Amino acid sequence: MTSTTYSLDAIATNPSIAALCHSDTALARGIDNSPPHSLLPNLQRLQSGLAAIQNLLGSAISISSGYRCDELNRAVGGVPGSQHQEGLAADFECQGFGSPIEIALAIADSAIAFDQLIVEFGRWVHISFSPTPRRQMLTIYSSARGYQDGIVTEDGRRLA
Ligand SMILES: [Zn+2]
Repeated sequence: MTSTTYSLDAIATNPSIAALCHSDTALARGIDNSPPHSLLPNLQRLQSGLAAIQNLLGSAISISSGYRCDELNRAVGGVPGSQHQEGLAADFECQGFGSPIEIALAIADSAIAFDQLIVEFGRWVHISFSPTPRRQMLTIYSSARGYQDGIVTEDGRRLA
């Protein structure tokens, strides 16, 4: 994860495509993370999904990772074939709302048509949007434990 995040200035505004493609790692390593034009529809889908989440949470979200070109995905240790590479996924926090688990529960309770919602390492929320949203919910605390079904606390209680 990178340390600098983008905050969305106002509720109900979409994050810019530039914010969705920004990466401190890419800048530090000289990786060109510009998306191909063919991915713009996906990035726009992600944009509007994140705006809906920001409206739901009522507080600015901070995006740490959105689109990743193949080289950047490898550099950050992303899962090969990740939806980040398609411009369909973002990792974010919303400190004005609550913890990643609290954020995930609010999204789970909403009608937002996400594809995957993953609480990752107790530190951020990964969300993706696709034309065929599965509303799949997962939690991962460590690579050793792997993905667990649902939104799960660190001590193993499944909340959603
Ligand atoms: Zn992610």
